[in-house]
Amino acid sequence: MLPMVTGFINYGQQIVRAARYIGQSFMITLSHTNRLPVTIQYPYEKLITSEHFRGRIHFEFDKCIACEVCVRVCPIDLPVVDWKLETDIRKKRLLNYSIDFGICIFCGNCVEYCPTNCLSMTEEYELSTYDLIGDYTILTIMNSTQIKKATGKLLDSRTITDY
Ligand code: SF4
Ligand code: SF4
Repeated sequence: MLPMVTGFINYGQQIVRAARYIGQSFMITLSHTNRLPVTIQYPYEKLITSEHFRGRIHFEFDKCIACEVCVRVCPIDLPVVDWKLETDIRKKRLLNYSIDFGICIFCGNCVEYCPTNCLSMTEEYELSTYDLIGDYTILTIMNSTQIKKATGKLLDSRTITDY
């Protein structure tokens, strides 16, 4: 008889505890009904990025002196600086510059240490693509021949802002 009574008491206590938990969760749900949602309907709505947001890197071809500081400070040696030494003027001439945004971790080291400020961070974060070959979000800059081939026109200023 006694084990049966104890069993009933335990069962009753469990029912009370379960009811209390259900009540608590219901109260939490109710407390959220008058709050505004914290999520947005992306991609129909977009948040304004913060001031120091590190998005796609902007590169200005004409300012680059091919010093390769960006390569040395990059934790994964990512920027590819293609240059040629002009022996007559004893200066490097930049041929092509690229950063693979599929690998870049957007740490911003290259932007911070570039001596000519030809690199800067933009607020652009939509970098996904269906086409990895020849996509502008992957290559920071293409040389003028490639630009001509891809767009059918030769651009005067060779900066990625045009894309
Ligand atoms: S650090 Fe700046 S100037 Fe030097 S190669 Fe890199 S992008 Fe060009
Ligand atoms: S942002 Fe960082 S990882 Fe990306 S290229 Fe610059 S230094 Fe390298």
